Amino acid sequence: MILDGKKVRNELLEYYENKIKEENIKITLAIIYVGSDEPSKIYINNKIKYCEKVGIKTLLYEMDEKTKEKEVIDLIEKLNDAPDITGIILQSPVPKQIDFAKVSGMINPLKDIDGFTKDNLYKLMHNEDGLFPCTSKGIIKLLKYYNIKIASKDVCVIGRGDIVGKPLIFELLNNNATVSICHSQTKNLKKYTKNADIIISAVGHPKLITSDMIKDDAILIDVGISVIEGKIVGDIDFGGVKDKCLYITPNPGGVGPMTIAMIIENLVKAYEMQK
Ligand code: NAD
Repeated sequence: MILDGKKVRNELLEYYENKIKEENIKITLAIIYVGSDEPSKIYINNKIKYCEKVGIKTLLYEMDEKTKEKEVIDLIEKLNDAPDITGIILQSPVPKQIDFAKVSGMINPLKDIDGFTKDNLYKLMHNEDGLFPCTSKGIIKLLKYYNIKIASKDVCVIGRGDIVGKPLIFELLNNNATVSICHSQTKNLKKYTKNADIIISAVGHPKLITSDMIKDDAILIDVGISVIEGKIVGDIDFGGVKDKCLYITPNPGGVGPMTIAMIIENLVKAYEMQK
């Protein structure tokens, strides 16, 4: 069975669009785009499109490739203090003279829509309320939408990136899963995937997960993005595994739409926390 991220996203967007309209909520998202990374343009346009769809205003701050770190910090400090700005996103990647972790860590935690500040990551680690990274949060939301039990399940996360893999560890532990983390130095990936009830792959390596690596009725979440001949493909060999697994996310159309829905959710949450 397909875990349809687009359908769930659309339902969530409709809910937030109504809420914003009915409660006359005024939300503004500031997006900072430094440099000229091409895929970032697509991601930013997508964020703007869905924000506008639900009635959230966006402001795009474009800064050129040679922008100094101090200039980005100055802008973040200005936006942190601006009462009409609800949320701030520093689009990743940034040019190499800018330390992304340091600079994004300076965003006011109450305006931290990506959930990358120390304050919010600490709260995630301690299972407290906060603004948490959108992709991992979206994956949990998708599993729960389809009534997939997480507690006591053996979950194998592949990828230990700061944006997806690491926050997922805490999201899953907070939901009482037993978690194993695999990465580029893992000796025998199949040993872990073969035992897993749920496999979540966040690598960016086409066909990393094949039919022989999963058990019958596994639940498969495909986060990775690669582009082959102009087409987006995930980490999981969809055609090879689809008849063996119980549930699978399409890619595209699974995790990506949930990420955008969680950006909207975090914006509304940020607004409510600031009130
Ligand atoms: P990252 O580069 O920080 O992490 C990739 C991880 O993959 C690393 O931890 C690395 O150890 C691991 N890895 C590499 N080769 C491996 C192998 N052969 N076997 C096992 N592990 C291996 O990337 P990230 O920012 O965490 O993103 C991961 C993927 O998810 C990327 O493809 C990215 O485009 C995608 N992504 C998708 C969404 C979405 O909304 N769908 C959001 C964010 C990221």
